[in-house]
Amino acid sequence: MNIIDLIKKKRDGLALSTEEIEFFAFASGNEEIPDYQISAMLMAMYLNGLNEKEMLDLTLAMAASGDVADLSAINGIKADKHSTGGVGDKTTLIVAPIVASCGVKIAKMSGRGLGHTGGTVDKLESIPGFRTSLATNEFIGIVNNCGICVAGQSGRLCPADKKLYALRDTTATVDNIPLIASSVMSKKLAGGADCIVLDVKCGSGAFMKDEESAVLLAEKMVEIGRGAGKKISALITDMDKPLGNYIGNSLEIIEAVETLKGNGPDDLTEICLLLSAKILELSGAGSFSECKIIAKSKIDDGSALKKFAEMVEAQGGDIKYIYNTDLFPRAEFMYEIKSEKEGYIVSVNTEEIGSSCALLGAGRMKKEDAIDPCAGIILNKKTGDYINRGEVLATLYSSDSSLLENSAEKFLSSITISDKKPSVKDILIKIVE
Ligand code: URA
Repeated sequence: MNIIDLIKKKRDGLALSTEEIEFFAFASGNEEIPDYQISAMLMAMYLNGLNEKEMLDLTLAMAASGDVADLSAINGIKADKHSTGGVGDKTTLIVAPIVASCGVKIAKMSGRGLGHTGGTVDKLESIPGFRTSLATNEFIGIVNNCGICVAGQSGRLCPADKKLYALRDTTATVDNIPLIASSVMSKKLAGGADCIVLDVKCGSGAFMKDEESAVLLAEKMVEIGRGAGKKISALITDMDKPLGNYIGNSLEIIEAVETLKGNGPDDLTEICLLLSAKILELSGAGSFSECKIIAKSKIDDGSALKKFAEMVEAQGGDIKYIYNTDLFPRAEFMYEIKSEKEGYIVSVNTEEIGSSCALLGAGRMKKEDAIDPCAGIILNKKTGDYINRGEVLATLYSSDSSLLENSAEKFLSSITISDKKPSVKDILIKIVE
């Protein structure tokens, strides 16, 4: 097979066969095709689209391009959740222990943050001693013993997606529904779970800015999952404002722990109960509304927090920090952003808030960048709230005082204040089954 012929075929709007897609994916993952030819194919796919079969073929080929997790040594139902990325999204830290405390096994591989979005692995690593780089047998042993393990993605998970995603990032071919769907789902399928719940974010802090495209992406991913024999659903949830009030790595662990204790902000608590309920429902624990009640009971009786602490201990983390979050080091420098006018917060550009948090040192612009675990933002006000002139909108934290001013400027420019009270969207927009 010749890659030039395949590029020409896709360029001319024709569909690629299963064998042709497999050739492209495997050769890309094995570095057998130069970047310029992969990029040309990606642009042809971006411009001409992929039909349902091509999308499933690309997903399966990328999933098979590296290690596929064999979870057969784990007893019981294995579930996974995935968020398409947002700002302040710490739901894995809450949902995973809730469902694990109900007996559903969570064997989850998570990513690091990049750009304006945070990553679960970075957040967990802000707990002293916590290890996310685990050998397969240790990962499986922890899931079998304590029902839950959240590790970093192994270097050999979906190498074809790794290659394609890195090139899409630099060739303006990221924002394409079939390519995103196959990229996300290849990692989910290689992760090996039986049930998958997707949290497709929609709004100014998400890849999908409007409901129509979020629903389309969710439908494509659900279709792929179903085609691969998985139980799968997607929740479309609001990302027009940050989730919860704390953004940053150790700050998000602190807010997750408070939520597991039952003291979390309403939006974060609600979305975590909905995601947990959907995982429990797919696992056969009852109807969606029954499962939401079960999920809530695991917060109320302390078992979800206990499960989180068990996981932290099993992965080498110091659980003193979980039972006393005051032990987390505080950033040396802080800056209170005060409102320059009074009125209602009518909208926020959530992506810009994520970027202003990254500018404080909480995120990375390039994969190699180091992060400051205690940098971040605590929001005092969110969309729909009234603020007086001079009142504190948010507090910024960083270990480098020179980063505060730029970040504050970006933060302020992302907020719109007006006299008119806005209507605030529900956190759950739609469920795609
Ligand atoms: N996340 C992924 O894993 N892949 C994409 O293409 C976009 C977001």
